[in-house]
Amino acid sequence: MSIVDTTVPVGGPTLTQERRLVTAIPGPRSQELLDRKAAAVAAGVGHTVPVHAVAAGGGVIVDADGNSLIDLGSGIAVTTVGNAHPKVVAAIQAQAAQFTHTCFMVSPYESYVEVAEALNRVTPGDHAKKSALFNSGAEAVENAVKIARKYTGKQAVVAFDHGYHGRTNLTMALTAKSMPYKSGFGPFAPEIYRAPLSYPFRDGLTGPEAAQRAISMIEKQIGADNLAAIIIEPIQGEGGFIVPADGFLPALVDWCTANGVVFIADEVQTGFARTGTMFASEQFGIVPDLITTAKGIAGGMPLAAVTGRAEIMDASHSGGLGGTYGGNPVACAAAVAAIDAFENDGLAGRAQEIGAILTARLSALQAADPRVGDVRGLGAMVAAEFVDPITKEPDAALTAAVAKACIAEGVVVLTCGTYGNVIRFLPPLSIGDDLLGEGLDIVAAALAAH
Ligand SMILES: *Cc1c(COP(=O)(O)O)cnc(C)c1O
Repeated sequence: MSIVDTTVPVGGPTLTQERRLVTAIPGPRSQELLDRKAAAVAAGVGHTVPVHAVAAGGGVIVDADGNSLIDLGSGIAVTTVGNAHPKVVAAIQAQAAQFTHTCFMVSPYESYVEVAEALNRVTPGDHAKKSALFNSGAEAVENAVKIARKYTGKQAVVAFDHGYHGRTNLTMALTAKSMPYKSGFGPFAPEIYRAPLSYPFRDGLTGPEAAQRAISMIEKQIGADNLAAIIIEPIQGEGGFIVPADGFLPALVDWCTANGVVFIADEVQTGFARTGTMFASEQFGIVPDLITTAKGIAGGMPLAAVTGRAEIMDASHSGGLGGTYGGNPVACAAAVAAIDAFENDGLAGRAQEIGAILTARLSALQAADPRVGDVRGLGAMVAAEFVDPITKEPDAALTAAVAKACIAEGVVVLTCGTYGNVIRFLPPLSIGDDLLGEGLDIVAAALAAH
């Protein structure tokens, strides 16, 4: 028997771009696989959509029963170029046929260097930069902290309310939300402090006021002399797509520069054309010292990076950074192809168009339904926050019910937020306007029914 299942449709943009429900969600074949999952896979590894995927591309995910779901999540902002993008697939196939691994620390290869050169070119700022590659966003964050500590000779690190930086021990410490990310998994890494964010919908502060509040807490409770780095997502991702008020991020960067503190922008979720520019930092007018990337970087292959000022990146002794798989050649080949698509296929512009559609539709919902308390985001990274119309109390139950109804109707949406009351929209940039519009019709109908 061939290991290639010829009954499975080919993925990528060749898939029929339609929402198609031929069974209930989940159908019998997915249910069978979910039963096997429950028996074989650790219970802690959850899932949002109760189907098993067999193909994906453009704006759809096809499941094991032949249902075709509209994808408004991109596997959490990963398949930004589109799932099984033809250029990415070709690059993966060609590289896999040459060699799959040598370990870059044993014998280097060109595609790793090419990715580093591309990152040094496309990240904000025209200063001399260097990069190092890793496997996951959490690993990139861990290494950014290592590098900042080595460079400054200091230890403390500040992260922010609502921040999310991963699930390893150090990154759990940096992540704000206990359930489900941290609860029961301590003790956590020391010398991590948490500062207040700018959250315009809830704090009513201007950017400079919110920055002053954070800086004063940092100065009083930690002191710049002890502080290696502050790390912040330009827009909080898991924390609820919180867009800080104007001036908040620049004030933090200025304070870091004046005080010998490394400013790390965690652009793992906001990076690579997602927000309508290559990086969100550009739209906030900041140039980070270090920037962490992952998710969208390689069209779905596991790859991550730290990129930043050459003198900071070079602070580590040789052999101090790395890992067996970091910058795997197949993942690097995929990244070279994906970054080429980001730079040359107008994807940042497409993110802006998608953002305009998302914002217009969600703002219309907000105008008609006061339970939609806030609509916010940049480019193709937009969210709606659901609240009690009078008290603004978060409404997690409504959020969960709407998301569940959307999924049952064949539209993949993801929730987020410290209070679990945000639905976030992160469609692949390869989705068509019609499919996006149909997905948003389903969201509107689900809200109206609850
Ligand atoms: C997803 C995410 C991470 C962690 O990335 P993994 O690849 O899951 O380890 C870190 N930071 C941000 C902002 C993220 O969105």
